Amino acid sequence: MKHPHGPGTRAVHAGWQPEEKTGAVMPPIYMTSTYVQDAPGQPREGFEYSRTQNITRFALQDALADLEGGACAFTMTSGMAAIHTLLLTLKPGDRVVAGCDLYGGTHRLFTRIEARFGLQFDFIDTADEAALAALPADTRLLYLETPSNPLLSITPLEQAIAAAARVGAEVAVDNTFATPMLQQPLRLGADYVIHSTTKYVSGHSDVVGGALVARDEARKEDLWFHQNSAGTVNSPFDAFLTLRGLRTLHLRMQRHCENARLLADFLTAHDKVERVIFPGLPSHPGHAIAREQMSDFGGMVCFELPGGVPQATALVQATELFALAESLGGVESLIELPVPMTHASVPAEHRRAIGINDGLVRLSVGVEDGEDLRRDLESALASV
Ligand SMILES: *Cc1c(COP(=O)(O)O)cnc(C)c1O
Repeated sequence: MKHPHGPGTRAVHAGWQPEEKTGAVMPPIYMTSTYVQDAPGQPREGFEYSRTQNITRFALQDALADLEGGACAFTMTSGMAAIHTLLLTLKPGDRVVAGCDLYGGTHRLFTRIEARFGLQFDFIDTADEAALAALPADTRLLYLETPSNPLLSITPLEQAIAAAARVGAEVAVDNTFATPMLQQPLRLGADYVIHSTTKYVSGHSDVVGGALVARDEARKEDLWFHQNSAGTVNSPFDAFLTLRGLRTLHLRMQRHCENARLLADFLTAHDKVERVIFPGLPSHPGHAIAREQMSDFGGMVCFELPGGVPQATALVQATELFALAESLGGVESLIELPVPMTHASVPAEHRRAIGINDGLVRLSVGVEDGEDLRRDLESALASV
């Protein structure tokens, strides 16, 4: 048997072989909405309409399925569109048990849109084994993020998947923060992986997109049907940009992780900083599980300052390299306050209950030189 290729080799090659006709090393951007047919209902190569079939999108989809160890992948206009498309496969009355710490837009989609169509949502702490063990018997889907956004809580994937199996529920893991370079939930038995490819997968803050990857080949037709029927597909141009970014995911993640570790250590030692949250710190409650199920700890770091909101607000305006902006996972470092920004759509009482404090600062640590990032934070902290 041929030796299986490593994740870096697959990031560079997966999803595309140089094209037969021209030898094109990257997939051309197939900017066509439709394809000519030889006779009514007889498309030449099975291609009918770009919402249904597009070669550029297929290349990205195949690459993501390969990297996640899935049977198939479907790429979408955004991460939200990927989550929505998965939930479209459920029916009124179905119970979704979701992690309590989720991207703000996901919480909003669940509680303010999907709930209107009869889906039932419970929010539990999926990092808590007792909560997982008490999963309701009628759970249809367990939906979680690990590490979660923004609190970086770590769910023990093996336990979560076993708990869902006991009640016959499927498991979807939003793998946006870890990426397939650090963690592959499908290989542990999860049914679906979700990505906001806007973030690390594309990695250059120049395209919005999402992906839904499934472990089981038997899910392919139904998921394709929903992607096509709901029209949640991404454009060929966006698919191209995302694949271009994906080719260096392994290199970027190494530097993101290295820089995040350096900054987490720096912040931990800094006397103006309290409560540093980073799964790579032994003080993190999920550290041991993160060590087991992830190959590194990711590029996101959160912390709080004793001066609360006013001091945090001053800090995020005082950095020079860290840009004050939403989103994450790009090559450039970003800083933000989740409460007035990425998580503004999460009700205040829910935020307070799970510990998203008003002064929480979130860093998306980029791939710049780590020492420059450290100096930037150091001088910003000195000024507040
Ligand atoms: C950003 C994000 C989303 C939403 O993705 P979009 O591409 O912005 O629609 C979903 N999950 C997580 C963890 C995210 O960070």
